[in-house]
Amino acid sequence: MTRFRSIGTETNAGAEIQSIGMDASRIPEAPPLLGCIADDFTGATDLSGTLVKNGVRTVQMMGVPQSPPPRGIDAIVVALKSRSIAREEAVALSLDALAWLRSAGCRQFLFKYCSTFDSTEQGNIGPVAEALMDKLGTDFTIFCPSFPANGRTVFQGHLFVGRSLLSESGMENHPLNPMLDSSLVRLLQRQTKRTVGLIDYSTVRLGCTGIRNAFAQLQRDGVQMAIADAVCDQDLREIGLAAGEIPLVTGGSGIAIGLAARLRQDGMLLSSPERDPLPKVAGLSAVISGSCSQATQRQVAIMRDHAPSFQIDPLSLASGVDQVDQAMRWASERLQQGPVLVYATTDAAAVKNAQTLLGAKRAGALIEKALADLAVKLVDAGVRRLIVAGGETAGAVLEALGVRGLRIGPEIDPGVPWTFALGERTMALALKSGNFGTPDFFLKAWSMLP
Ligand code: ADP
Repeated sequence: MTRFRSIGTETNAGAEIQSIGMDASRIPEAPPLLGCIADDFTGATDLSGTLVKNGVRTVQMMGVPQSPPPRGIDAIVVALKSRSIAREEAVALSLDALAWLRSAGCRQFLFKYCSTFDSTEQGNIGPVAEALMDKLGTDFTIFCPSFPANGRTVFQGHLFVGRSLLSESGMENHPLNPMLDSSLVRLLQRQTKRTVGLIDYSTVRLGCTGIRNAFAQLQRDGVQMAIADAVCDQDLREIGLAAGEIPLVTGGSGIAIGLAARLRQDGMLLSSPERDPLPKVAGLSAVISGSCSQATQRQVAIMRDHAPSFQIDPLSLASGVDQVDQAMRWASERLQQGPVLVYATTDAAAVKNAQTLLGAKRAGALIEKALADLAVKLVDAGVRRLIVAGGETAGAVLEALGVRGLRIGPEIDPGVPWTFALGERTMALALKSGNFGTPDFFLKAWSMLP
């Protein structure tokens, strides 16, 4: 039988820290252990994929479900579209997700955001984390966005993308949340009233015990939110092992490697075989891209050389041209021959131009609505294998399609698994975060379906 000690207080390394106190082995009917709240849809599948790869049986729900939680799993990821909405709304949605995950029986919680810490001066990372801490009654959490497999590392509190600082990585041109400061301590401190500190690399290198001691020392120093340096998966493992007793952890999908290690070490993961094999999905194939990130720009350029492609333009949409109808007529004539690409992806100068003329919010919303409407028409026309590029874009598309939950399938590239819609209509979906994937991602993904 599964037994949980309730959230309590435990002495650790000389300081009082809150503990989620999990122990004992689990039976398949036991409630899930880890409840995750992801602030966008591609990030959620990235996290779910990482958990599954690390032996954690995971189901992903789109939005806060109305129904009771599934059983026979170790973790639930609730995917929200809360990254770029108003702060108050993001907080309310995240608290709803937390309440549902608590009712599902989860004992530890992960707030997942982008490994490039996508946010603005107002949030939403700081305010959401703060609200979750308040609700859980905890005074300390960590921020660990590092995702080394995709080149995101944190050193001395500064976020790097490959060899570049975040603010020189192309993310300074993001259409919705340009990242202009690479210091996460500074960035987060501007988003929260709580005191932000750093667990620097020399501490992380000491391993789990050293990191736990640092948690305690930081709390004695009045720090409530600690950025954690991490440059490789081993760092994430040590941080995850150290954070096993913390009720709320925050980070990118990489920290799931550490949290999974902790669950495995404690013998907490289900070991019975999966009940259902992954489905084989027949049907037409399409790519919808609303991401303007550099990796997506390259992927779109390569796919355009190999497959029919149609460009959606915010200025045309704003002037009343029915580009959804045009794209659909165009696609109907080509879908039978192989995958088609419909994209709004463009370079930073064109995005800036559209934003100057329309405003950033309106330009983004016009594109998201057009691509979501198009996705519905494509599925009505028989598309069952769909790749969507862009976090916000994927959120809009999945909401329009009414997809409620996803099972996780094989990984295409780090952070992007194939997923399968739960429900009546079997569909394969790959939700690609802007900067993820190799240049030939849209070409190679199809052969990785079961
Ligand atoms: P990523 O994962 O790369 O961040 P998102 O889909 O999250 O991608 O965000 C990209 C945003 O840019 C979306 O809101 C999208 O509608 C918007 N967008 C896409 N194409 C254009 C364009 N041509 N001009 C202006 N905004 C655009």
